[in-house]
Amino acid sequence: MQRLKEILRRIDHRGYSAYQELRGKQFQSSLFELFFDQVQKDPFAPATRIRVRIPDDFAKFPDWTFKNKIRRIALEDFLLRQLSREAHKFSRKRGEGKSGAIFSYQPSQCVIERSAIRKKENFLEACFFIGLPSRGRRILGQQAEVMLLDDLKRLITMSLLYESLVSEDLELHIKTIEAAEFLRNRLKELGLTCFVGNGSILPRRSGVDDRPMDAKKAVPFIAPKELECTIELPNLGSITGMGIPEGVVLIIGGGFHGKSTLLRAIQDGIYNHIPGDGREFVITVKNAIKIRAEDGRSIAGVDISPFINNLPQDIDTANFTTENASGSTSQAANIIEAIEAGAELLLIDEDTSATNFMIRDSKMRRLVPDALEPITPFIDKVRPLFNDYHISTILVTGGSGEYLNVADRVIFMQNYQALDYTDRVKKLITEKPHIQKFGKIDSRIPLKSGLNPEKRPGRIQAKAKGAGRLILGRTEIDISQVEQIKELGQVEAIARTLVYIYQYLIDKKITLNQIFQMIKQKLTEEGLESISYQSHPPHLAEFRILDFAFVLNRIRGLKIIKPI
Ligand code: ADP
Ligand code: MG
Repeated sequence: MQRLKEILRRIDHRGYSAYQELRGKQFQSSLFELFFDQVQKDPFAPATRIRVRIPDDFAKFPDWTFKNKIRRIALEDFLLRQLSREAHKFSRKRGEGKSGAIFSYQPSQCVIERSAIRKKENFLEACFFIGLPSRGRRILGQQAEVMLLDDLKRLITMSLLYESLVSEDLELHIKTIEAAEFLRNRLKELGLTCFVGNGSILPRRSGVDDRPMDAKKAVPFIAPKELECTIELPNLGSITGMGIPEGVVLIIGGGFHGKSTLLRAIQDGIYNHIPGDGREFVITVKNAIKIRAEDGRSIAGVDISPFINNLPQDIDTANFTTENASGSTSQAANIIEAIEAGAELLLIDEDTSATNFMIRDSKMRRLVPDALEPITPFIDKVRPLFNDYHISTILVTGGSGEYLNVADRVIFMQNYQALDYTDRVKKLITEKPHIQKFGKIDSRIPLKSGLNPEKRPGRIQAKAKGAGRLILGRTEIDISQVEQIKELGQVEAIARTLVYIYQYLIDKKITLNQIFQMIKQKLTEEGLESISYQSHPPHLAEFRILDFAFVLNRIRGLKIIKPI
């Protein structure tokens, strides 16, 4: 660190570019090693990326905090939250632009694997960002010295050492996440797609704030007796709640009674949540995917023939391509793409569905015979989907009773309380639905030309742009409707994975499904960072193959051929 001090004194008051001398350099203090992975070009550019490595001798995390993968992820998540909070206290304006800023990656309410903080074999490593200070684009060496020599050491001491944190909080964090993960892993053998623990707080503070609604206003969830189940958890005793069985499950009820809120909690139940979130024990199978209408999206070579046939002008629906999908074709494509990427549970809300895709009532069926109607509505396919592919569906509906005919279970929401209406509904139902086959789906082969990540020859550009966009080369992908992506780091990781498949996998023969399997294997075996073309990426977060597939399928200009 003495060497760092000397450099900062030497470049004091020089032009901003003199900071570049730090790039790639490494310094040693009594407590940690400091790496400058990337140095900003000017005070307004993206902040400088630094990385600190603290040997276990100082960090001193006991073995139980990282003895298996899920505990390690929980530990890393806990430390990131602590670092992020503490960094805020040291961050202040020390000159122009980003001068003086100290910050880390911002996590959501979910606990997922991230590259920002890593507990490695013999050390703890944390990436974060600082704004190297200047005024009038002249280096403020003294300010930099305070930040990098004093503040940094205090920040690390306060947030990244075992002795500096409240060990009860860490323990609760780790135990909660481990129990949640355990529960998710048990769902399949219990024949469930989802579990909603009693006492869960499902509503959020607002549409843009994912923290729980004020405890005084929120009605805690209670399972109806018929769907109640109790599960033994590691660390935390047993938990009772509602088990949603596999098959076709409806959530019905009057408007404003909490149907969509329940469904949203279920769709977020693919993630584990921090203690205090209210959804710690709302647990859904990992491969659950929200399906919605998304008119205007592009579709490339998708076989939507199970749903749509005999379009005017002989349009081929087994190889359907459009730059501007309608509500129904977009929803059909979303389902087919979800099946291709390994979905086990579809989550559908009437609020965000195309009516003509979902149902066709008996009057309409009499008026327009099936032979003349291109759309086979989802209601005719929801059972075959389960029978033929073992894919379950949870569906919210308040406006139409049609689906009551095909449901295995019916949950009625009344004043935010769930009631089991299955028996009542069974008494109402007289018609037996005619069960058809779902139909087969062709596999697809992507071509390189549709996925070029180069902004100009030799210059790769693949990154998140705000919450709802991803930039790949010269195209922008609208992913605002891919609802289960929760963090920017997931978008960053997906962007890099798109570059990876472009560079290493796509070859005119390999199908999308095979690509998904290969990425999954690589991520499992070599870790999140292995997908990145940069070394020490500071802001990657774990993502699902399903979400990766959903992003890929939204690339305008995606080119698909069929296997011969
Ligand atoms: P629906 O889909 O049945 O029309 P929503 O799920 O959209 O109803 O919920 C309507 C409103 O009620 C939302 O503003 C939501 O935040 C609130 N809400 C939902 N569940 C609860 C609950 N358990 N306690 C308090 N408020 C809730
Ligand atoms: Mg609703």
